[in-house]
Amino acid sequence: MILRALFLLLALVSGAATALAAAPLAHSIDAVLDLPGKRLLVTDAITLPEPRTAAELTLTLAPSAAGLAVEAGGNVLKPARSGETVRVTPPKGAMAVTLRYTIALGQPPQAGPGGTDNPGALADEAVAGPDWAMLMPGSLWHPAGLTGQDAYHLRVSATGGVKAVSQGGLEGFSQEGENTVSTWNVRKPVGRLGLCLARYVFEERRETLPGGSAVAVQTFFLPESKVSPDIYLEAAARHLRFYSELHGPYPLEKFAVVENPLPTGYGFPSYTLLGSQVLALPFIPETSLRHEVAHGWWGNGVLVAGESGNWCEGLTTYVADYLAQELAAPAEGKAYRLRTLRAFSALTAQTPGADMPLERFGSRFSAASQAVGYGKAIFVFHMLRGFTGDEAFWAGLRHIYAAKLFQPAAWEDFRETFAGQGEFSQERGRRFMEQWLTRTGGPVMSLDQATSEPDPAGGWVVKAEAVQKGAPYLLRLAAQVDYEGGTQRTEFVMEGERAGFELRTPGKPLRLRLDPDADCFRLLDPSEVPPSVNTVKGARELRVLVAADAPQGVRAALPVLLGGLGQTKAAVLEEEKLTPEQKRSLESGNVLVLGMPRFPLPGLRDVMPDAPGADTVFAALEREGGCVAVFQASARGDAGADAQAVVQAVVQAANKVTHYGSFGLLGFAGGRNVLKATLEPRRTPMLREFD
Ligand SMILES: [Zn+2]
Repeated sequence: MILRALFLLLALVSGAATALAAAPLAHSIDAVLDLPGKRLLVTDAITLPEPRTAAELTLTLAPSAAGLAVEAGGNVLKPARSGETVRVTPPKGAMAVTLRYTIALGQPPQAGPGGTDNPGALADEAVAGPDWAMLMPGSLWHPAGLTGQDAYHLRVSATGGVKAVSQGGLEGFSQEGENTVSTWNVRKPVGRLGLCLARYVFEERRETLPGGSAVAVQTFFLPESKVSPDIYLEAAARHLRFYSELHGPYPLEKFAVVENPLPTGYGFPSYTLLGSQVLALPFIPETSLRHEVAHGWWGNGVLVAGESGNWCEGLTTYVADYLAQELAAPAEGKAYRLRTLRAFSALTAQTPGADMPLERFGSRFSAASQAVGYGKAIFVFHMLRGFTGDEAFWAGLRHIYAAKLFQPAAWEDFRETFAGQGEFSQERGRRFMEQWLTRTGGPVMSLDQATSEPDPAGGWVVKAEAVQKGAPYLLRLAAQVDYEGGTQRTEFVMEGERAGFELRTPGKPLRLRLDPDADCFRLLDPSEVPPSVNTVKGARELRVLVAADAPQGVRAALPVLLGGLGQTKAAVLEEEKLTPEQKRSLESGNVLVLGMPRFPLPGLRDVMPDAPGADTVFAALEREGGCVAVFQASARGDAGADAQAVVQAVVQAANKVTHYGSFGLLGFAGGRNVLKATLEPRRTPMLREFD
């Protein structure tokens, strides 16, 4: 919506020099929903801004708005319509202009847009079902001036207990004869209005937020809804408090969660419109809902300037989806960053040409645009935070929010705010933004010249260089040495192709890692993407080796395991019957091992100790030219009274492996998952093991 409004503004404002359009307009809209007739009857009385001189009033309205009649001060006016534009010239002294027209409501789409966080303002449906209707802002169902800052008083009337939801604050519901009238007051500049109507069950809580402002938290759920409003009311209130504290006062009158008969996941200023199935997913209150609430500050509070790229998805994802993980545990934050890097690296490797500069990102339309506009963008904010330090970073965001509320902001505003803070000098600020906004891809990095030597003065000295391929990026990097007895860390800024650094440790160094916490955006080396269950699912020419002393349960589970992995055609070899040739062939390619064979197999190691407490383990391990996976159980299960139960637990575990596709190490106890993890890659260009 924001982008669209700005493009319209740019396109139209130059030709409207004598128009009234410069000032925001005040609308009083009366709408009647006619469900049998599948139409919305609209009357909009627009108060003209002062001073009133005879001048043209330019509005936008759906070209499909039928039977448009315009009058002002008792005079019938003849509107000039061209596409989405309506021009009328009210007589001198007229106080108001009234428009009347009808919007036809179409059939609901067969399959609605999937997923969540589609910017709903871009959608243009105006559709109705038997007892509901949905009009998106992009349908242009009501007249709007060109500033995108109009105010609205909205009365919507419908029969059969149908209530209406829109932006702004709720004035109330009233009964007039057979009709329910819903009244909304939209005083904040939120752009075009959406309108949803259904037999909603309405719940509301009034919350006092940090800073003292009051906000209404609401749910509009369908009568047949299976979801408890309390869960959403509590979560939304908690998220509103969190961001009020982090960024500043919530800028809108309410936040509402609205259930939609269509499978949408739309976000609008002050409400989110979620399909019934999405709403019922148990993780939505802590994920998508948090994200949509955070948009109240970024995207719907501070607006996105149209030309220089959409920063608001990256920032919203950073302060919502990402920050929730980081606050839960630093390791969860690192895991999120690694997932993001893997997604970006996989994308650029698989689909060269799908990548684009961040400044060209407008909204998500593909995996590629998501990897850039959400993925790379969260790293821009994360690396900015690294340069400025935590305190300056959060203070800077508060400053931008206060200074730019309801105004468009660009990446340039973030550069200006943060340049000069911490290690982020003016010159670095320019270079940082330029490289992340205008270049595709990312740094390709490695460690070089790593040495570890005893220091004559005591302890040890580790020296190494960070190296980048291609035109160098400005980066702030960390390096970490694990030594006998602890870890030692250093941080430095890299400006060119090489940057040397040095660490001193009291104990003997074991290994050195560059960017140990994945704080830096870069293209991962293929060796940095560890194998997972998905790797085994996709492995070509997988062979299965059943070890001579593989426990009973593991043997019994084999058909279930192979079925889940989609590898039922894999050749199965018994260790006792291996020919020397077969034995050699297992040293390369993709192999799944059941139990532990007696002979050494390259890449295979005992993973039971990595999963304490588990009785059954699945692990995908990397090796040269393929992957070796292992499925093991600790109990033999071939003797004793509970033998059958032991076998059954292993089979249950095998049955579940397929559901943990992105993980490389799984542990099960009694058939229940107790561990899901990704093993650290053993050899990468960012790691040096010392002898
Ligand atoms: Zn979003």
